Amino acid sequence: RFLLAIESTCDETAAAIITDDLQVLSSVVASQEELHRRYAGVVPELAARAHVERIVPVIDEAIRRASLKPADLDLIAVAHTPGLAGSLIVGVSAAKALSVALEKPLVALNHLHAHIYACRMAAARDVFPCLGLIVSGGHTSLYHCRTSTEFEPLGGTIDDAAGEAFDKVATLLGLSYPGGPAIAKAAEQGNPRAYQFPRGLRGKSGGFDFSFSGLKTAVRYEIWGPGQPIDGPPPLSEQQVADIAASFQFAVVESLAEKTKAALQHTLLPRLCVGGGVAANRLLRTRLREVCDQLRVELHFAPPELCTDNAVMGAIAWEMFAAGNFADLDLDVLPGLVRNK
Ligand code: ATP
Ligand code: MG
Ligand code: FE
Repeated sequence: RFLLAIESTCDETAAAIITDDLQVLSSVVASQEELHRRYAGVVPELAARAHVERIVPVIDEAIRRASLKPADLDLIAVAHTPGLAGSLIVGVSAAKALSVALEKPLVALNHLHAHIYACRMAAARDVFPCLGLIVSGGHTSLYHCRTSTEFEPLGGTIDDAAGEAFDKVATLLGLSYPGGPAIAKAAEQGNPRAYQFPRGLRGKSGGFDFSFSGLKTAVRYEIWGPGQPIDGPPPLSEQQVADIAASFQFAVVESLAEKTKAALQHTLLPRLCVGGGVAANRLLRTRLREVCDQLRVELHFAPPELCTDNAVMGAIAWEMFAAGNFADLDLDVLPGLVRNK
């Protein structure tokens, strides 16, 4: 049987065909990175318009590459939460239209659950129960994943996402967008202990929540001085840029590793599954590997192509299908702007 999964939560328009034994027959991702580069961040209105232009060609291409016809599809799935409202609406509308036209059932996905399921797709075996860590441009969340369909949020960022902090600090340092890879590269020449940047919500006080906005502000003040306006390119030497990048990256990674370790100790879960664009970060990978080795916990990273937004991870729809968890045609988007859990 054939699943068509659709993803349009942020700035990637994606579709994939996955069989009920989790074979990936096709995966198409149209990234909008170029479109948003000059703004150094995703512009919601531009993203929504680009989804409208791309959604039909992307779905067509996924079906074509799988050598199928629309009538061959058995299940339609779409991520309806969380994300940008205007972006989500495009995918959800397309999925509903296909569900009606083809008379096939519809499944509504939580995009963050799907990010964790990317590890299941990569491992090619069961990874549940596990602790799920999602670190991306829009999200930083920890989940207690009891089964492939039972996800309990343990904590998340109360302000910026980890990737968002990378992107904003990169702009402050005059580095390119997306900021994650640019900061990681600059940090290679820097000293991670050159600057003492704050770790938000450190210790038990914050539970399993994260905070990165104070860290971002600390970097800003380091460059421009407290209360001073940002005035042109940063007045920094190449070595200072490298040292700030390294110290900032160190602070983000320590925050993520510390809370993740505490959550593993609290839940006693046997494995950790990590997804989202920031999971590409080498220092984060090294630190989480150390934490997991120390606690004797199995560690799974989504591979790079399944870390960033894609529709293959929408294969979680088969789990929901098996659990009889279907959506109606009154399915709405749930942007979750207040707190993305
Ligand atoms: P969403 O949050 O909805 O999943 P997104 O497009 O904002 O979508 P992703 O595509 O998963 O997020 O990831 C992009 C983010 O990952 C960017 O913020 C980018 O800076 C960050 N990133 C990519 N590579 C690295 C890296 N090596 N180190 C740190 N951050 C990275
Ligand atoms: Mg993206
Ligand atoms: Fe995502």
